[in-house]
Amino acid sequence: MSESWNPSATRRGFLGLAAGGAALAATGSQVQAQRVRSAARIVVLGAGAGGAAIANRLSARLDGAQITVIDGRQQHWYQPGFTLIAAGLKPAGYSISSTGQWLPSGVNWVQEYAAGIDPDANRVTTTGGQHFDYDYLIVATGLSLDWDAIEGFSLDMVGQNGVSAHYAGPDYAELSWRALDRFTDQGGVGLFGRPATEMKCAGAPLKIAMLAEDIATRKGTRADTQIIYNSNSPALFGVPIVHHRVRQIFDERGIEVRSSHVLKALDAARKVATYATPEGDVDADYDFINVIPPQRAPQAVRDSGLSWADRWTDQGWIEVDRETLRHARYPNVFGIGDINGVPKGKTAASVKWHLPVVEDHLISEIQGREGTRRFNGYTSCPMITRVGRAMLIEFDYNDNLVPSFPGVIAPLEELWISWLMKEVALKPTYNAMLRGLA
Ligand SMILES: Cc1cc2nc3c(=O)[nH]c(=O)nc-3n(C[C@H](O)[C@H](O)[C@H](O)COP(=O)(O)OP(=O)(O)OC[C@H]3O[C@@H](n4cnc5c(N)ncnc54)[C@H](O)[C@@H]3O)c2cc1C
Repeated sequence: MSESWNPSATRRGFLGLAAGGAALAATGSQVQAQRVRSAARIVVLGAGAGGAAIANRLSARLDGAQITVIDGRQQHWYQPGFTLIAAGLKPAGYSISSTGQWLPSGVNWVQEYAAGIDPDANRVTTTGGQHFDYDYLIVATGLSLDWDAIEGFSLDMVGQNGVSAHYAGPDYAELSWRALDRFTDQGGVGLFGRPATEMKCAGAPLKIAMLAEDIATRKGTRADTQIIYNSNSPALFGVPIVHHRVRQIFDERGIEVRSSHVLKALDAARKVATYATPEGDVDADYDFINVIPPQRAPQAVRDSGLSWADRWTDQGWIEVDRETLRHARYPNVFGIGDINGVPKGKTAASVKWHLPVVEDHLISEIQGREGTRRFNGYTSCPMITRVGRAMLIEFDYNDNLVPSFPGVIAPLEELWISWLMKEVALKPTYNAMLRGLA
């Protein structure tokens, strides 16, 4: 690695400001409403960002309810950290904690996955063959990464021969950094892009491309490096004003765009990627490639009858009302997080605003009244543009920018303060959310 690029030195510079992040977390609204007596059986599928947080909120609000959380994953992953790991700014451990540490005492954590969901019988069956009957079901399974959809690709390639795949988990993100480190030392052609399905954190593919460009510049290899971003459509981002801003940054920094190119196959031995385009398949040579696969609801959800019948039929997101997050056909079922079939909101920041809505409607129902809270599509993407710079982009269902700090943080400007939000403040805020406190 060249002398001018030293991630640990960069990291040290930010540490003194960590207290700012903790302060931000502490401002989150505490769950203070009165406890409600209920013997309801509530099953939560998934103990990730949404599942752990709603389990904490409901156990704080309900007295006597039987809350069962089903999730076989022992590790909790703080996924917004994956981008920082893949850029060599954090180690894999930064994103890893244990699922158990976030779940409140008193809930029954079943360490298996849901294998079958029968919303007509109000019953979930686990991979171990256990059955759980419920009065209310909360689906918070997140999404599945369909790696098999990329022909010729397998996860054991990550970190070698220029292959990166930081969506796969913290360890893969660290391996991805090894590949990116080598690439930005040596130069060559780097391919980036996103799948054609809905995806979590649609800004993440753009961030890693811009970080690669920045790191190559800092190392002095930019002149020998070609950064190519393959967009699944003519747009770089779903919100038009953000698309234009990112396009401008890409133009200024010489990041090339290939529109309507969707990664289809990889020949790792020859270092050739194949993209599906409207004109047919196109091959591209690479020295480095970042693979982000199509994303879909987990199979058990897709088989459950909870998915939309006429939208996202290849992806299986559940049919919830976009404002109440309540299932359209099964009113005792709610969705939180990435699994929801709504036009925006596959971010952890959206989960934060899903939580009070689902809590309100579920508890109001138990009390025999109607909930009033609504989700407006809030989605937030701290769009890292360089090490030390980001744009704090927040928007709603109508593509309006809805900045949390109007007049203080300009959403479309590359700012140090927005970088700090991502690098320092986001994780304590996320952790507070998991505990039901933000
Ligand atoms: C690279 C990357 C960068 C990101 N950056 C940001 C960012 O900067 N800001 C931001 O706000 N968001 C970001 N996100 C998105 C954010 O992490 C997700 O939107 C968020 O974690 C969604 O929460 P969730 O509860 O829906 O899913 P998850 O947190 O993924 O949790 C889902 C849980 O469900 C479990 N599960 C799966 N199938 C089953 C089953 N059949 N039965 C039971 N349990 C099951 C899983 O084991 C998992 O524990 C990023 C994501 C990635 C990958």
